[in-house]
Amino acid sequence: MLLRCLLAWLVVFFAGEAAAQPDAPSGEAVCWKPGELASHPGDKDIRKNIPSAYAAPPSGRSAPLPALRPGQRGAIRRVELPHGSRKLIALTFDMCEQPYEVAGYDGAIVDFLRAEQVRATFFAGGKWLLTHQTPAQQLMSDPLFEVGNHTWEHRNLRLLAGAGLDREIEAPQRAYEKVREPLEARQCLSRDGAARASERAPKSMSLFRFPFGACNPEALDAVNGAGLLAIQWDVSSGDPSLGALPGQMANGVLHGVKPGSIVLFHGNGRGWHTAEALREIVPKLRAQSYEFVMVTELLNAPGAKWDIRPVCFDSRPGDTDRYDDLARRLEARFQKFTARFGPQRSGEAR
Ligand SMILES: [Zn+2]
Repeated sequence: MLLRCLLAWLVVFFAGEAAAQPDAPSGEAVCWKPGELASHPGDKDIRKNIPSAYAAPPSGRSAPLPALRPGQRGAIRRVELPHGSRKLIALTFDMCEQPYEVAGYDGAIVDFLRAEQVRATFFAGGKWLLTHQTPAQQLMSDPLFEVGNHTWEHRNLRLLAGAGLDREIEAPQRAYEKVREPLEARQCLSRDGAARASERAPKSMSLFRFPFGACNPEALDAVNGAGLLAIQWDVSSGDPSLGALPGQMANGVLHGVKPGSIVLFHGNGRGWHTAEALREIVPKLRAQSYEFVMVTELLNAPGAKWDIRPVCFDSRPGDTDRYDDLARRLEARFQKFTARFGPQRSGEAR
């Protein structure tokens, strides 16, 4: 294990040296040594039903995003790539965190993606960003990764309207800014040593993913109205399913993808065997000449035509509506928690 760490450090050190640009800030160190980037036992654990996990949304307003063009509005499922172009594919990982829980960080996935140089997109809950500030900073400043918005507390946006809906969309943008701020102050370098981490980490998130993959026209309109691109998927790994074995998940993904696909996984501890499945999926897709890119890169690929819909769904229209009942049951449970432990008892500002 010690030898592996040393080898990994040497690889990263020399890769960083080789990648350093002439205009890279001199004399500054990388923000995190390899041992600080590596996953730790217990990171993946989810702690549920704990009153201390209550967090008020950050105050203030986030920086506004540019308005979307009419052709960018809707739920993006995948892209169509011109015949003969590179076989691009985007792996995405949701970091969901509900009220009164601290979700996990499945660092084994991230370790693997870094070791294999696999580009990927993470959709983080705003509260998750605040409960996982170091991994969040590491992800947002990593040259392989980008981070998108996965709502404040993973509410089903079909059940919300008005201020509640706006809060789920806006609060994560502010949380991202807050978590990114210390990178400005630290003036340390991103993992590859080629730029400051604060320059690598975009100032705002520009992508959004709906919890449960569920939306209605009002929620979709609100997300797009905030300048966020709504990113769905065309292939789901099914990794939160308890019975999904790594080989079955890998088979499902390998049979489901095509060039331009967006694939859904979970990186918050709710994917049971995600890292193991990736160890099978990634080499097999590479053997078929697939290249892994971030969602933003997929959308901007030459000639990419977005498959964009007026409705959100998993594999067929209407199939995510079934989460309405589940979300209502969760809401009832959260309301009981709030009545007992929430801000009106503790006096916290909301
Ligand atoms: Zn989620």
